[in-house]
Amino acid sequence: MLDAGFFQRWLAAAASAVDREADRLTELDSAIGDADHGANMRRGFAAVAAALDAEPPGTPGAVLALAGRQLISTVGGASGPLYGTLLRRAGKALGDSAEVSPQALAEALGAG
Ligand SMILES: [Mg+2]
Repeated sequence: MLDAGFFQRWLAAAASAVDREADRLTELDSAIGDADHGANMRRGFAAVAAALDAEPPGTPGAVLALAGRQLISTVGGASGPLYGTLLRRAGKALGDSAEVSPQALAEALGAG
């Protein structure tokens, strides 16, 4: 079973990966877009990590909902609302359970 701590570690790892790959994301975006995707995602996931550190939510659903709100409010362009809405809807689908199964996570991501 997966608890809130698992989801916090997962999103912290995602934030690290986005930070590490931000220059590459921007390079890819520069070919067809306005070359801000890496900077935008880095800013958003840094806000996610900071918010989760400051006030760790007690349930998996609340972790995803908080992360989604942070992405929506800090990432410019389309990617903030897209990734943020995915996480918020997935969090809502998980409800208030303190622990969720991998199957429930898969279904929640599908719902997102
Ligand atoms: Mg852009």
